[in-house]
Amino acid sequence: TTTMSGTFTYHFDTPVYKGTTALHTGLYINGEWVNPVQGSATADIINPANGKTITSVSVGTAADVDRAVVAAQNAYKTVWGLRCPGSARGRLLNKLADLVEEHQNELAALDALNIGKAFHTVLAGDIPFSIATLRYFAGWADKVQGKTMETNENKLAYTRHEPYGVVGQITPWNAPLLMVIIKIAPALATGNTIVLKPSEVTPLSALRIADLITEAGFPPGVVNIVNGYGLTVGAAIASHRQIAKVAFTGSAGVGRAIMRASTESNLKPVTLELGGKSPTIVFDDANLEQAVKWASMGIFYASGQACVAGSRIFVQESIHEEFLKRFTETAKALAGAIGDPFAQGSQHGPLISQAQLDRVLGYIEAGKQEGATLHVGGARHGNEGYFVQPTIFTNLKPDMKIVREEIFGPVACIIKFKTEEEVIEMANNTVYGLSCNVFSQNISRAIRVTHALEAGNCWVNCASTAEVGVPFGGYKESGIGREMGEYALDTYTQVKAIHVNLGLNL
Ligand code: NAD
Repeated sequence: TTTMSGTFTYHFDTPVYKGTTALHTGLYINGEWVNPVQGSATADIINPANGKTITSVSVGTAADVDRAVVAAQNAYKTVWGLRCPGSARGRLLNKLADLVEEHQNELAALDALNIGKAFHTVLAGDIPFSIATLRYFAGWADKVQGKTMETNENKLAYTRHEPYGVVGQITPWNAPLLMVIIKIAPALATGNTIVLKPSEVTPLSALRIADLITEAGFPPGVVNIVNGYGLTVGAAIASHRQIAKVAFTGSAGVGRAIMRASTESNLKPVTLELGGKSPTIVFDDANLEQAVKWASMGIFYASGQACVAGSRIFVQESIHEEFLKRFTETAKALAGAIGDPFAQGSQHGPLISQAQLDRVLGYIEAGKQEGATLHVGGARHGNEGYFVQPTIFTNLKPDMKIVREEIFGPVACIIKFKTEEEVIEMANNTVYGLSCNVFSQNISRAIRVTHALEAGNCWVNCASTAEVGVPFGGYKESGIGREMGEYALDTYTQVKAIHVNLGLNL
């Protein structure tokens, strides 16, 4: 079973980056590269900027998940968990952070190639955030402590915050490396071992990270990466009886499937980071220039393929016209910067796949049919790759599909409002509750409105700027549990309460 599977070497010779990457395309189980147990199935990895195949990688099945779970259980029982001091786990996480830093250009290039996001955007955003996340949780590794409880003098009562053991993690494609790091860092810091499935569409940086995990010195089996499809490998993780907890980031529909699988297997706790239809609210006393800049970034960043995308932009009546004029200018400027992630000056990349392209164009068509006004954009750009123009709709009604559903593309809905009460009601009129962005120079109003909005992450006079020390997660159908910050530690530990009779008169 230890036969090494394939390798993939790629030479980047681009205007913004020159360099080489080499990675294994098999399954990473027990610190080794192996072929799937059953057959030799592979999946093609597509470059979304031109639709061409980059390489193909192994896809596992439930049998490989079983194998990975055994490796993770062995590692947990022998070298990890409470057998490895927190300080040692922290040192390994810091070492991994150093390696990510050392290889940052290569990792940024891999993600840029695989998802089409501009190389410089990945290098300036996802990469430093990944490094900071590893260092942040490295710092926590020896600081997760229980408590002692004063009860009565005959008793010693205390708690331990113990790891779950083997945890399952399933990640999406929109920020491949960062999503993997945000999952593994807190789980490892708290002493769990891992079976992770990256998105089958974007496994390249996860496969590269596996080698860095080995190089950092993590014992075999502590992290296992089983690439494969959701319905096979993902479902096997979610329903595995020896996996004690599962963490998932992705769409709400799959989130429900994960929860169902947990219910029907071992009732493992589930954390879910799901989608959104987040509001951006611009009051008439906002700094308009700033509001336009952030609102534009809020929806068009990563071509709208961000869970926190501010896709419903509510603008107060008196400034609506001026806002729309300036916002349209930013959309047009982005339309002029559509391009390959490795071309100089590219700012607006493709959607991830032909399926996403069809989906997003379908929403744009639905918007037109339901009577919304297509103000700008609305079409595919070029005929190579999966690019969609930055798109703006106006004259919207609350029950239109494009106002209600997550599009996950560069489509902004601009909606007029009159009063504070009205906009709070409109903004909360969604099944989602991931985030909100509120713009007003009246800070009392901005905070009052933020408190009234049903969202887990709120930005005042900015948008989507995450911090490693601040929790991230959703209200309503946007998720369960929190990642990042101290709060993430709770989702990877279980509390054991211990009562000791001190031998007196209990
Ligand atoms: P997706 O739900 O299609 O897939 C996510 C992952 O789940 C993939 O690895 C996939 O293979 C796996 N999967 C699919 N079906 C499964 C099943 N039945 N059982 C187990 N696993 C299964 O999502 P996606 O298209 O990769 O990503 C886009 C979605 O992710 C959007 O809805 C977006 O809002 C959401 N997202 C949320 C956050 C957040 O933190 N809240 C961050 C990024 C993306």
